[in-house]
Amino acid sequence: MSGQIWDVAIIGGGPAGLGAAAELRRLGVARVVVLERFETAGGIPRHCGHPPFGLREFRRVLTGPAYAARLVEAAEAAGAEIRTRTSVTAIRPGGILELATTDGPQELRARRILLATGNRETTRAQSLVPGMRPVGVMNTAALQSFLYEEGRAPFARPVVIGSELVALSALLSCRRHGIRPAAMVETRPRVQTRRAFGLLPRLFGVPLHCGAEILGIEGRGRVSGVRLRLADGTEHRIGCDGVIFSGRFTPEAALARASGLALDAGTQGPRIDAEGRSSDPLVFVAGNVLHPVETAGYCWDEGRRMARRIAADLAGSLAAEAPRPALAPGPGLRYVVPQALVPGRAVTLNLRAEGRVRGRLVLAGPEGREYAAASVNAAPETPLRLDVPALADLPAELHLRLDREG
Ligand SMILES: Cc1cc2nc3c(=O)[nH]c(=O)nc-3n(C[C@H](O)[C@H](O)[C@H](O)COP(=O)(O)OP(=O)(O)OC[C@H]3O[C@@H](n4cnc5c(N)ncnc54)[C@H](O)[C@@H]3O)c2cc1C
Repeated sequence: MSGQIWDVAIIGGGPAGLGAAAELRRLGVARVVVLERFETAGGIPRHCGHPPFGLREFRRVLTGPAYAARLVEAAEAAGAEIRTRTSVTAIRPGGILELATTDGPQELRARRILLATGNRETTRAQSLVPGMRPVGVMNTAALQSFLYEEGRAPFARPVVIGSELVALSALLSCRRHGIRPAAMVETRPRVQTRRAFGLLPRLFGVPLHCGAEILGIEGRGRVSGVRLRLADGTEHRIGCDGVIFSGRFTPEAALARASGLALDAGTQGPRIDAEGRSSDPLVFVAGNVLHPVETAGYCWDEGRRMARRIAADLAGSLAAEAPRPALAPGPGLRYVVPQALVPGRAVTLNLRAEGRVRGRLVLAGPEGREYAAASVNAAPETPLRLDVPALADLPAELHLRLDREG
């Protein structure tokens, strides 16, 4: 192990990790290192050659690669060190990281660690679609790397399957590269994003089929069509030369799991308390490894918030780590982040519900006492937020409840 002890080692050089690095340096934390497995830091935006990125951070609309480059510049200008081609393979107790580098295995020690490994798209096999596996079937990440890294279009007229934010990113990428999607298909009854984004396919002249069942992908050698059962029960064939599967994202939590950090069944990412601490009190967590896809601006901001907590912890002003009652999401709610409150700490909970929701979100204690509540009216896959004030005494049990209207 090298003799140097870092104040903070950040695992992952995406918006969350880079935002945290710049903020830690701004707060006067001396030795900050970002560890990034790829050749270039910047995270997912490096491959998203379309806007909108950067409004919250730089007050302008940037493409993903321009945004990623600015994040790297900002972290370096603030005095953080960025080590690329460095994969973290294990987090050991006491702030020790095992690394795989181009010079072979190494170890590094830090007083605090920030885990910011982002999330990843699940493969087509996991989406259990029947039919052949001809050439031309890929997820959005593969499409982005064809377009932005190799500079070539893998098809001319694909079908996009999914309708979340990332599927819309696929539409935007296609449009910028002269690819004309033949259709967009959503297996659930409605578009899985805000109504305004849902207008995009129509605006681009791309037919949208919601509530459709995918019966199969056709083609020998290369994709030639997709067969659907539409919402009205009729069968329909769309001729195409490619299929883009999108929208199934899961936290990149393999490192957390292998290192023994407690994971949450709802998010599949590490569990944290309201200070951002994982089950190892030296390891904080930020960005999309905590939850399926939020925007880059949200993750950047979350990284900065966690940086402030880490700086406070290094200065000895964070409440001591202690067992906290878990927040339990009730029926209809998929997950909540953080998963535990801390006495005296106000926090905005990040939640997601099953399907479309309209009603009231309530944080309740024993005997039904309400500690926080908000009206909600949201599309599926839209994040819900609940502001919880600082509570000096936490009750032993806290439940999150969704009272649906209608
Ligand atoms: C196709 C697509 C389009 C999108 N379009 C938009 C958009 O238009 N606007 C917008 O605001 N947001 C968009 N987003 C969302 C945005 O990209 C994410 O919110 C943001 O990148 C999340 O930041 P992050 O730092 O949490 O994770 P990431 O950006 O995923 O960064 C994580 C980093 O950690 C590294 N890493 C992982 N494991 C290790 C390890 N063990 N050791 C070392 N390094 C590791 C990874 O290589 C990666 O660089 C899009 C996302 C996708 C997938």
